[in-house]
Amino acid sequence: MNLADSEIVASLLSKDNYAIEKDINQADFILINTCAIRDNAEQRIRKRLRELRALQRTHQGLKIGILGCMAERLQKQLMEEEDNVSFIVGPDAYRNLPQMLDNIKDGEKLAETLLSETETYDDIEPVRYDTNGITAYISIMRGCQNYCAYCVVPYTRGRERSRDPRTIVDEARSLFEKGYREVTLLGQNVNSYRWEAESGKRKAESEEHDLFTNHYSQITNSVGFPQLMAMVAEVSPLLRVRFATSHPKDLSDELLQVMARYDNICKCIHLPVQSGSERMLKLMNRRYTPEWYLGRIDAIRRYLPTCSITTDVIAGFCTETEEDHQATLEMFRKVRYDYAYMFKFSMRPNTYAAKYLQDDVPDDVKTRRLEEIIALQGEIALENNQKEVGKTFEVLIEGVSHRSEGQLFGRNSQNKVIVFERGNLQPGQYANVKVTRCTSATLIGEVVDNK
Ligand code: SAH
Ligand code: SF4
Repeated sequence: MNLADSEIVASLLSKDNYAIEKDINQADFILINTCAIRDNAEQRIRKRLRELRALQRTHQGLKIGILGCMAERLQKQLMEEEDNVSFIVGPDAYRNLPQMLDNIKDGEKLAETLLSETETYDDIEPVRYDTNGITAYISIMRGCQNYCAYCVVPYTRGRERSRDPRTIVDEARSLFEKGYREVTLLGQNVNSYRWEAESGKRKAESEEHDLFTNHYSQITNSVGFPQLMAMVAEVSPLLRVRFATSHPKDLSDELLQVMARYDNICKCIHLPVQSGSERMLKLMNRRYTPEWYLGRIDAIRRYLPTCSITTDVIAGFCTETEEDHQATLEMFRKVRYDYAYMFKFSMRPNTYAAKYLQDDVPDDVKTRRLEEIIALQGEIALENNQKEVGKTFEVLIEGVSHRSEGQLFGRNSQNKVIVFERGNLQPGQYANVKVTRCTSATLIGEVVDNK
């Protein structure tokens, strides 16, 4: 999400004649886009700010600004604590950045952190400045109001709002025409994406728009996520479509049916479980039970037998017992995830947990539980990958392998990385690759025929 936001910031500033400077010693401004999701994300930024002091001493006039969730969370407090910061800008205020940079004078400090109920930056075409030219993110909505008890996002990114689907499809089409072959649609809870035409004018426009008259999406003034996926998938069969993140409570059969209908919608679902314990899920305000979650996993397997499933999990949330932790391990054994992002609980100010619960699981216990989850997931991922040996996958080639110039890497529809001999192939092409061996993180294969 932050990468996508930085591309919007680059676009807004390039319109005002600012350009990206790759040599940090030559830069007039350094903008740091920040995350507030866990304390260690914020500590990394504090460290980066300390490191930049040396550069500021030799480079008079260099100004540093903090963008993103940490700016939103701490606001002016951040400038007081970090005296080398000149401006801070929250996630909904990036349109003010060009003017702020134009006007900022030496010694002055500026802050813009107002959250918006409507800002989606839908008219901004992001500048993809750090890209492989093949895969890109498209932000389809902003904010979140699920208020999971541990999570700071609703406080730093504001209310949920969905972007106009026409601008999303146009962006996907424009990327495809530039040679991109994969887009990932981004939102904190993509399943609750819903765009409504508000005014009569907007309605008339949307009725004319040909996107709304294709065979799947009837003329409509309200677009939900399954329909949006179909529209983006119809840009071209050669454009792969992915999405993140789905909240399990809202994962609909309709979405799974759309995923089954289009070959170019990738068969990979990220479905963050957070915990396997019913009591923990309730306390986390996730609004599903382990049974509901497993029912959704069954539905995925039924509609999409080849789909990979990945997750997020938190070890050591408030009051978590050994029994709760065992329930999480059990969930991992039942689902057999292909990949997991695994975190130690970090108490965040303002959240429900900070107000009403105690961070009472000792750090060494959190660490041990996290390590147990990581070890189990490592075994499962390896076993899952071993089952892929002998199968042939269509791979979108993304680049040259980091290990060897003679090898390329890409991903299959299931989002698994596959490495293989280069031959005559180029990044951006599709190739059919047969898997010959694997590790827990990577498949290794050989090209069987080229398209
Ligand atoms: N909107 C996404 C998650 C975005 S945050 C969703 O609901 O799935 C990404 C992940 O960070 C979360 O899924 C969660 O596992 C983790 N996370 C969020 N807050 C956390 C906290 N306070 N401590 C540890 N991990 C946290
Ligand atoms: Fe945070 Fe929950 Fe919203 Fe995800 S759904 S961003 S975890 S509040």
